[in-house]
Amino acid sequence: MSSKEPSRSSSPTRLSGETRPGPDARQPARLQLDPGLYIVSTPIGNLRDITLRALDTLASVDEVLAEDTRVAGRLMSAHGVEAKLTAYHDHNAAQKRPGVLARLEEGARIALISDAGTPLVSDPGYKLVREAVEAGHRVVPVPGASAALAALAMAGLPSDRFLFAGFLPVKSGARRKAVTELAGVTVTLIFYEGPSRLAACLADLAEVLGGDREAVVARELTKLFEEARRGSLAELAEHYTKMGPPKGEVVVLVGPPGAVELDDAGLDAALREALKDMPTRAAADQVAEQFGRSRREVYQRALSLKDNG
Ligand code: SAM
Repeated sequence: MSSKEPSRSSSPTRLSGETRPGPDARQPARLQLDPGLYIVSTPIGNLRDITLRALDTLASVDEVLAEDTRVAGRLMSAHGVEAKLTAYHDHNAAQKRPGVLARLEEGARIALISDAGTPLVSDPGYKLVREAVEAGHRVVPVPGASAALAALAMAGLPSDRFLFAGFLPVKSGARRKAVTELAGVTVTLIFYEGPSRLAACLADLAEVLGGDREAVVARELTKLFEEARRGSLAELAEHYTKMGPPKGEVVVLVGPPGAVELDDAGLDAALREALKDMPTRAAADQVAEQFGRSRREVYQRALSLKDNG
């Protein structure tokens, strides 16, 4: 081990949630910012996960729109930032937006933050940004933490291509329908979920995508009890059904389908094409030949595809 590496016995997660400034603490700088709307990412747990530029921006704008002013207030005081905080959340956004746009028109510098992570990522802000863009105002990202990317970074699932699907519907029927639409997607899938719905969500994912799909539940990222639980969708569904809702926040990640499943998806697609202009038996024989699979197995698949429309 190089002398720069942390020793394994001192777990780095012991420091998660630490909020006291260390010896490198610095006062946020007051910047001469251009007028515009600043979309500022804040921590997803560990209050130190905020960039120096984010602190400078929050200290320099005329006003900070915050999803919850108490949460924002704690963040500001932990970092010695003084800012004028205004509530901007799902319940008052429609009413607040015209005033915010009017102040931007007058040349104000306004920041938007959410309770955690990056605004607009399953958080308020989309309509405000859209209307600000349409009105010709400058919109400036001040990037930082987001649970989706933090989870992807630690999951150990393919990360070259991924699809962030946000929160799935709460009701099982609608959730299965939404997951069915993702069944043909061959990249890592990322979902946000609440702990109380985790087991039911995993069970639906297992049923629709297949219980063998590799998956990860990333919990309490950047916090004291940070954890990644890895397994197949079926194993994870069983675990959380047995254990009950976990404490804290979770991200669910599902790896892409394996080679056999991919082959099956391709085979079904080829069968559907062949069935458009051939009788079932002929279509099955042709596709069986093409994929090197048994004619009987492919014929059965063709019949069930026809039955299921
Ligand atoms: N805007 C945030 C972002 O950029 O990640 C997401 C806000 S969304 C309302 C909240 C969801 O994000 C939670 O239900 C959970 O799925 C996920 N999340 C947020 N913080 C997390 C954390 N520390 N660990 C695991 N998941 C987290």
